[in-house]
Amino acid sequence: NERTLHPAECASVRLSFEYFPPKNEEMETQLFQTVSDLSVFAPAFVTVTYGAGGSTKARSLTTVRRMIEEMGLTNTAAHLTCVGAPKAEVDAVIEEFLASGVRHFVALRGDPQGGIGSAYEPFPGGYENAAALVKALRARGDFEISVSAYPEKHPESPSVAADIDMLKRKVDNGATRAITQFFFDNDDFERYLERVRSAGVEIPIVPGILPINNLAQVQKFAGLCGSKIPDSIVSRLGHLDDRPEERFKEATHIAAEQIVDLVRRGIGDFHLYTMNRSPLVAAVCDLLGYERRPAAEFAAERPRRAAATG
Ligand code: FAD
Repeated sequence: NERTLHPAECASVRLSFEYFPPKNEEMETQLFQTVSDLSVFAPAFVTVTYGAGGSTKARSLTTVRRMIEEMGLTNTAAHLTCVGAPKAEVDAVIEEFLASGVRHFVALRGDPQGGIGSAYEPFPGGYENAAALVKALRARGDFEISVSAYPEKHPESPSVAADIDMLKRKVDNGATRAITQFFFDNDDFERYLERVRSAGVEIPIVPGILPINNLAQVQKFAGLCGSKIPDSIVSRLGHLDDRPEERFKEATHIAAEQIVDLVRRGIGDFHLYTMNRSPLVAAVCDLLGYERRPAAEFAAERPRRAAATG
């Protein structure tokens, strides 16, 4: 299995990184250190998640603002969910993000308020699903709108075909990119992509890549969101619980191999779920052969970049 890209491949591959809003000061320090560490890989954009039902509203807003204003990451995308909230509340959050300089949203429905697996009820007077939220965002301007996609089908969905219908509705309403739920089997992704394209959906479908820091945690999460972890991955990592260095190395190999294989299948964009930690994601980027841009060069560019979009 190959783990390194040719320099020409590296030059044409674009990365994006996902973060979640920190719950306390310690986590905030860690997050901004991570954002700074990973910025040397010059991501095409970074994203900040948003808790369903607005549970992280204030923290998401603060995090996004800090990334744009203090760190000069003008390419920060704000996730937004519409479950459990009236339209007026969601609209007010959209306005706050726009006022903070956000020009890219990741528009989601959010998990049902009873938790993953419970029945979803549209909120009375709210946006009924992600497609409705996309429409409301698009009515406000010509910015980027990313949405979710599920190569292994959303757990609530009766079939992949129903999922692709929903994706199509989001695209018809103005979505410009889809980012997938994490998956580990590239054949599944390729099959899904073929079906999406034959349904007439032409926006980029960006694979969501989850480097595995903690196998048990990822197994639990995968079970909830319907992603499979191939036996080959479990057998490569499962016996390394007590050997953190080997485990880290193996996890780095697994993610780099997945990306190299997808690049060779013609994919150029990758969204990495960072879990707000830099070492594993940085090791994957290094192994792929990604060049680190000196931090000084990046810092020098900040005021210019902020001014260019301000
Ligand atoms: P939708 O696209 O509206 O629907 C998802 C699927 O459910 C559809 O494809 C469809 O198959 C099925 N479905 C929905 N409604 C119907 C219907 N009426 N009839 C038939 N089928 C239906 N969650 C958060 O809380 N915060 C985040 O920041 C966040 N970020 C995410 C980022 C990405 C890239 C991804 C992949 C997921 C993210 N999630 C986040 C999780 C997401 O909120 C959940 O998966 C949620 O259950 C579905 O939201 P959605 O936007 O995908 O919904």
